[in-house]
Amino acid sequence: MRMCIQAVTVTTSETLVRDLREAVSSGGLTVAYQPQFALDEGPPGGRPVAVEALCRWTHAPYGEIPPATFIPLAEDARLVEEIDIQVLERGAAQILDWSLSGRRIGLASNASPSHITMEYAEEVIARLEGTGLDPALVAIEITEAPSPQLLPEMRGALARLRSFGVAISIDDFGAGDTPIEMVESLPIDEVKIDRSLTQRADAAADAIVADVVSRARSQGWRVVAEGIETSDDLARSVRRGCHRGQGYLLGMPMSAEGIERLWDAPTLRG
Ligand code: C2E
Ligand code: MG
Ligand code: MG
Repeated sequence: MRMCIQAVTVTTSETLVRDLREAVSSGGLTVAYQPQFALDEGPPGGRPVAVEALCRWTHAPYGEIPPATFIPLAEDARLVEEIDIQVLERGAAQILDWSLSGRRIGLASNASPSHITMEYAEEVIARLEGTGLDPALVAIEITEAPSPQLLPEMRGALARLRSFGVAISIDDFGAGDTPIEMVESLPIDEVKIDRSLTQRADAAADAIVADVVSRARSQGWRVVAEGIETSDDLARSVRRGCHRGQGYLLGMPMSAEGIERLWDAPTLRG
């Protein structure tokens, strides 16, 4: 019985990888945008300062497949770099369009640590240069736990991206066990506090975030609180000194038109 279930699972994931490859090559993936708001300029509200581009895949016939399922498959099948470049390129075109219509909104785009090489950095720079977009509007988010073998090459690639003007962000800090000293050894501009820490009200969580905020002050980083779901999460993130906030309370991931509506009528929340 167990062998049977394993066989079905393998077949399903092989089918999914085949379909994902097809979706990637035919432009079948889409992008949702989740707004980020300033928390350090009075009560959060008003217009978003940036959006995070989040990849979406609607599979026929399975429907919407979450990134938590398809990104690991893409990593194993070596498709993730292409996905990350596509999402970045689409997001960059979108914020360029917004900036041309007077809406200055930054972009954060995710990148899997498995492919942060010098070639990837040059590819990103070539694509962004082609758009004429101000690179200062763009941040690349990498998950916090790059394996030690990848670190030396990653450091060089991140430094190259920063020298071009793109910000580097460490995503999901606190979700794993990466020490802050390791994060501090990377050339970065931003740390995103994982939602598990944002939503914890205990003194130990306060102390971890206080340490990040204090290092951020001396290193010049921006601190973004992720996973703000309740008004308590929001008040806690403001009190902790986070510069920006993101989460379902402030705005769900939405279409580009949804972000435009937020910008144009800033009291509306997605
Ligand atoms: P992430 O980069 O940390 O993105 C935030 C995730 O948390 C998103 O899930 C978002 O919908 C969700 N989220 C936002 N606010 C809240 C909240 O208040 N509460 C809760 N519970 N969740 C919230 P999503 O879109 O399912 O993406 C999951 C992860 O998949 C992302 O986490 C990122 O690691 C990865 N991912 C998504 N798009 C891409 C991509 O284009 N490239 C790569 N490499 N990874 C991606
Ligand atoms: Mg992210
Ligand atoms: Mg995150």
